[in-house]
Amino acid sequence: MNTVDFSGVGMTSQRTRERLIQRLTDQGIKDKRVLDVIRVTPRHLFLDEALSHRAYEDTALPIGFSQTLSRPYVVALMTEILLSLGPRKKVLEIGTGSGYQATVLAQLVEKIYSVERIKSLQDRARERLRKLGVRNVRLTHGDGSLGLMEFAPYDAILSAAAPGEVPEELLLQLAPDGILIIPVGSSHEQELRVIIRDGDSLNYTERVAEKVRFVPLIGGLSS
Ligand code: SAH
Repeated sequence: MNTVDFSGVGMTSQRTRERLIQRLTDQGIKDKRVLDVIRVTPRHLFLDEALSHRAYEDTALPIGFSQTLSRPYVVALMTEILLSLGPRKKVLEIGTGSGYQATVLAQLVEKIYSVERIKSLQDRARERLRKLGVRNVRLTHGDGSLGLMEFAPYDAILSAAAPGEVPEELLLQLAPDGILIIPVGSSHEQELRVIIRDGDSLNYTERVAEKVRFVPLIGGLSS
């Protein structure tokens, strides 16, 4: 676990944050490590000031370029699933967006690689991570539907954007016993799939965690 010192970054009221943690617990999030990290991570700093007062509501919020910061419940759920098979050292995130999910993961995993196709979002995320002192996240401007071959394999891959089908490359970049957590489906509704590689074989087991709604995974780069 990498501790990040968030003291002195400003706080919205402790009560508002506790209400969010209670809501996550009510919805079934049990992992105390995940709840603790979400409690201390300043989500308001990942939003434009005009929206920051809504940061601790359990809702997705716009971050520009038609993209959204995922719902805290979904961030918590994906993180809980990611940790459920034991510690994960090296994780790939697809869709850096605001950098919030990466910051949550950074406190629970040794090293995060995160890919974003929109350069302006990546630049903003980089600035936030720098200000917050998050050092174990490496950001790349790239098309995450191809994974990130350069640093593969990964103990876990988590996608914050939804393809119509699971990209083959992602399966091939999983380490033995690696786990891929990815929303798959149409632009309106998807199922969150949890795919686990069986040892070092090319066999995978798959289950559906629940129905979710993410922005689509889009191929190619954008400034
Ligand atoms: N994890 C983010 C959620 C961002 S929404 C957060 O905590 O804020 C999903 C992001 O995926 C968007 O920023 C979108 O631009 C990005 N995305 C979509 N398709 C992509 C692709 N092929 N490669 C990399 N990023 C992609």
